[in-house]
Amino acid sequence: MSASVQAPALSPARRDLLRQQLDRLADAPLSKAGLARDPLHFVRQWTAPADQEIAAVFASALAFGRVTAFAPVIGALMDRAAERGGPRAWVDAFDAGDRQALAPLRYRWLSGDDLSLLALALQGLLRSGGSLGDRAAAGWDGQHGPEGAQSVLRAVVLPLRASALAAAPQIEVSATRFDDLPRGLRYLLPLPGGGSACKRWCMFLRWMVRRPGPGAAGVDLGLWALPTDLLVVPLDTHVHRIARLLGLTGRSDGSWRTAVELTRQLSLLDPQDPARYDFALAHLGISGGCRSAWQPAICGPCALLPCCAVAAARSSSLP
Ligand code: SF4
Repeated sequence: MSASVQAPALSPARRDLLRQQLDRLADAPLSKAGLARDPLHFVRQWTAPADQEIAAVFASALAFGRVTAFAPVIGALMDRAAERGGPRAWVDAFDAGDRQALAPLRYRWLSGDDLSLLALALQGLLRSGGSLGDRAAAGWDGQHGPEGAQSVLRAVVLPLRASALAAAPQIEVSATRFDDLPRGLRYLLPLPGGGSACKRWCMFLRWMVRRPGPGAAGVDLGLWALPTDLLVVPLDTHVHRIARLLGLTGRSDGSWRTAVELTRQLSLLDPQDPARYDFALAHLGISGGCRSAWQPAICGPCALLPCCAVAAARSSSLP
């Protein structure tokens, strides 16, 4: 399938069916086991908003690949932060000893020094005044929808890029442009304009903006005073794959354009809060609760059965 195939228009009846079934999924009780598999679990171990904000930057930054592979690295970072008085105090006082403590950490193409440079970038930014939430609120261009999300992400990520550049000599890196910084650090600070779906930063934004509440849909922290209708769905492989089964996107590429298309489709179901379905969709995939193929034991009780292409194909093939 071409990356540019358009999602089918949703008829009113199809919208109602999708809303009903997705609401069932999103309103289901939040399970401890499900939360333990989510990087947000590392953020919720802190109670002060200033700690949660910093913990969220690291937990979301490392949330790619297999949970079992990245969770120990986030855990090691949080352990170090705890030794130093919590994530915010740790970043505020981050020094050569902290760099040495992170040096053994590795995750995929990220090194301990990449994580140290992110901490130093945060330190520089926070020393210049205000929290990340203050910068996000000041940088929001007032637009609702994905354009608004883009303005908020730029207001946070661009100053972090500049701060990383200024801090680079502290890890013996000489750079005059962001593109000269180590690949690992650059991977931590993407922007939508480059085509990336920016899944990790969209997830960070979801954690910061959506208010806590009951059920899986209420898992977020709601630290920032921004409207939920500017959020873009964090497009991971599970969400993308299940969205295709539901006919919410026909696009096969994991790009910003696909994330925006999916968000616009979900906005038809919940105009004020399209990302409310994200946690439940992602965890349907993460938990092994959807294999994108007919599996009677898991498809039978699946909340999405009435609107899933796999189930429809199976019904039409039955005699
Ligand atoms: S019905 Fe089966 S294939 Fe379809 S979303 Fe549910 S678990 Fe996945």
